[in-house]
Amino acid sequence: MQLALIFLATLSVLGVSLLLPQPATAATAEEDYARQASVAPQPDDIGAGYEIPPAQRVAPRAAWWYVVDMALLAAALVVAALIAHRWRRRWMAVTLSLASLAYFGFFRGGCVCPIGATQNVAAGIADSSYAVPLAVLAFFMLPLVAALLAGRVFCGGPCPLGAIQDLVLIKPKQLPPAVDRWGGKFRYAYLGIAVVLAAAPAAAREFPICRYDPFVGFFRLTGPATMFAFGTALLAIGTVIGRPYCRFLCPYGALLGVVSRFSWKSVSITPDEELDCGLCTEACPFGAIENMRAKRATCLACARCFAHCPRQQYAWGEIELYEIEQLTQQAADKPTDKKPATRPIEEPVA
Ligand code: SF4
Ligand code: SF4
Repeated sequence: MQLALIFLATLSVLGVSLLLPQPATAATAEEDYARQASVAPQPDDIGAGYEIPPAQRVAPRAAWWYVVDMALLAAALVVAALIAHRWRRRWMAVTLSLASLAYFGFFRGGCVCPIGATQNVAAGIADSSYAVPLAVLAFFMLPLVAALLAGRVFCGGPCPLGAIQDLVLIKPKQLPPAVDRWGGKFRYAYLGIAVVLAAAPAAAREFPICRYDPFVGFFRLTGPATMFAFGTALLAIGTVIGRPYCRFLCPYGALLGVVSRFSWKSVSITPDEELDCGLCTEACPFGAIENMRAKRATCLACARCFAHCPRQQYAWGEIELYEIEQLTQQAADKPTDKKPATRPIEEPVA
């Protein structure tokens, strides 16, 4: 409830600001058109029955669409936080992912997205004449605020890039922790390069995160063949290696990981006290469980591991109290280097 109130307050401020008249900046102010229309060639001058074609202009997106986007993103983040910290059901996370993929991915064409917004914000900070729309700023900030409150809940549900990878994860294999540790560093390098290129002078400015977004072509059903090939390769790898783009490439995921180290609430595999039985150790397809705890920086709040915890199964009424002891004893008897259960089995706190 506290999370919901904080999000709603943030959304209200952003929504009201967007609807207020915006002061003209150097980039948005009207400029005089040097040549008068009356001196341009007219149909009579051109002859041969020439007619002026109807104006062909790209219609700007209505401001209210951006308000809808922001409201839905804020609502999705609140729901994702409740799923990760209170409801703890995987099917809810899957439902939220599918809805977000449908709306933010296929319906809105993957834009605005917080990942690409990183570059707009970098360009806006470096160049005062570059106007960052409030909706873009909101998309950049809201998942970070959510990460500060509740961990990487944006990755667990609302992110369409995460959702499309989650859908194809059929037979997850564990990677050696060193691969995650070292491979994950590439995200920081990519983030640094993207920020430097976005913050460059206007003539040299580049937005590589958007240009090389591997999934936006699927969302829009158009794009360069090379990017379709890249996206297809990532999805093929993603059938066995959980979310390769998130773990090794996503620059915004790197930012979220840094922020979520300081989050107010972090994902807990058990609903209450830890048993340290080790039953959840193999449950995470993203290598985010270490020493029987979800790691703040890499846990994607996907809700997969919860069902592997006997305390959670008991809380759902799926097993009896005595079965917790049986399950943890079986885990302790397994030949493994993990610690056996060390805590007494008591009735979990409701
Ligand atoms: S790591 Fe990046 S792509 Fe993956 S879910 Fe998070 S923000 Fe989306
Ligand atoms: S520890 Fe792994 S399985 Fe559990 S919620 Fe985090 S990412 Fe998902």
